[in-house]
Amino acid sequence: MKGNGTVQRDENSLAIHWFRRDLRLDDNTALNAALATGLPVMCVFIFDPNILRHLKIKNDSRITFIFDTLQKLDADLRARGSMLRIFFDAPLSVYERLFQSFNVRGIWCNEDYEPYARERDAAVAGLCKAKGAEFHAHKDHVVFAPHEVLKDDGKPYNVFTPYSRRWLARFADEPPVYHELASKGKFLPATADHQNPGLRAIGFERSAIAVPPPLFDAALIEHYSDTRDIPSVAGTSRLGVHLRFGTVSIRALAALAARLSQKFLAELIWREFYQMIIWYYPHTTKRPFRAIYEQLKFPGSEADFKAWTRGETGYPLVDAGMRELVATGFMHNRVRMLVASFLTKHLLCDWRWGEHFFAQHLLDFELASNVGGWQWSAGIGVDAAPYFRIFNPSEQQKKFDPKNIYIDRWLKNDNFFGTEARAPIVDHRFARERCLKFFSTVHP
Ligand code: FAD
Repeated sequence: MKGNGTVQRDENSLAIHWFRRDLRLDDNTALNAALATGLPVMCVFIFDPNILRHLKIKNDSRITFIFDTLQKLDADLRARGSMLRIFFDAPLSVYERLFQSFNVRGIWCNEDYEPYARERDAAVAGLCKAKGAEFHAHKDHVVFAPHEVLKDDGKPYNVFTPYSRRWLARFADEPPVYHELASKGKFLPATADHQNPGLRAIGFERSAIAVPPPLFDAALIEHYSDTRDIPSVAGTSRLGVHLRFGTVSIRALAALAARLSQKFLAELIWREFYQMIIWYYPHTTKRPFRAIYEQLKFPGSEADFKAWTRGETGYPLVDAGMRELVATGFMHNRVRMLVASFLTKHLLCDWRWGEHFFAQHLLDFELASNVGGWQWSAGIGVDAAPYFRIFNPSEQQKKFDPKNIYIDRWLKNDNFFGTEARAPIVDHRFARERCLKFFSTVHP
């Protein structure tokens, strides 16, 4: 374990809580369950090189955010006489060593539905079994786990509306309960024999992008359906990153949404719909949901893709969105839908190129929602926008940014050239016809 000194064997048994996408103490299902055992709880976070190697930006803002959040968690645990042990190594190796050094009775964590996480957790569960210890994964990241909202025949839904109806019915029957940090359990006392790694030690630099603390803005949520579609105003919650890393509780947010805005609640249900899809159809992280679309070989060029990434397509709303993404790590949902449609339908670039680019830059990157959003936009996903629905970028601009407030904000430095004067990379009508022809190869 890099950054870890020699840990003395301790005969006293203990439980481990493994933090992953649940970086908070309050209303943390697995942490409360670990504390309920009465065993002293050791809190662990692991920077996994297998995940970090996919991140290409040295000062990745998610890593800075995780790092800072871990320092706060450590401080909160130290205020309770304990500490957070942070490691930088493969989880299996970390746990093998912890089993050698401590009398670990079990590992508690919250479920993660991504394919890699499932494999990783199965391996750690196997190790626990071999050591005669317990492994418990709890539902925490969602209100309803993938298997809890299924059709009458026990199969998963492929269409959002009936899924959301069933989700809401279950929500009415079983409203989520918020649990504060259990006051009865105890944490393992802090020791001086473990050194947490710094940012540099895990191969990253500090990002200048600061994530605002989570805000449950009741007024915003109440007016969400009026403001959510206008990219120039702060009309959405910006809670995506906090939901991703668990710095807010989904149960608390869903309960508030249910009181204030059905539209906002519907977006939280989309999030769970995609978590369900990735669980039952893990192939979708790499391939289209429907096999028929696997035949499509997107012919788009790397040069067009590059222009798109730089915000140089000549379509101001597309370009503004891409600039916002690279500068801030955020892009408004309305603009995400447009830029994704533009890349796949106007430029006929492979949706995976765009998905990977978003994965590198989005602060709120969540594999399930990102793949879902990209496949929806490209018209190849579950319950997707049909392939013949092709956004007209100029019309979208007139409708959602009629006074050019958003595009001026992001393209003002381009005015020397004159943003409007930048020639569109492709003519809309031509692109539309080309796209329909392309998809007609699978939809004769
Ligand atoms: P709000 O509008 O305030 O919504 C509240 C929360 O609901 C969000 O934080 C998010 O957790 C959830 N949510 C909202 N819309 C959606 C949706 N369509 N699908 C799933 N969950 C939703 N969302 C991500 O969280 N991570 C991603 O990587 C991601 N990639 C996307 C890629 C594309 C191509 C598209 C079209 C959408 C993507 N979305 C993604 C969905 C959506 O754009 C973001 O969740 C939203 O813009 C985040 O801003 P917010 O937190 O202010 O959301």
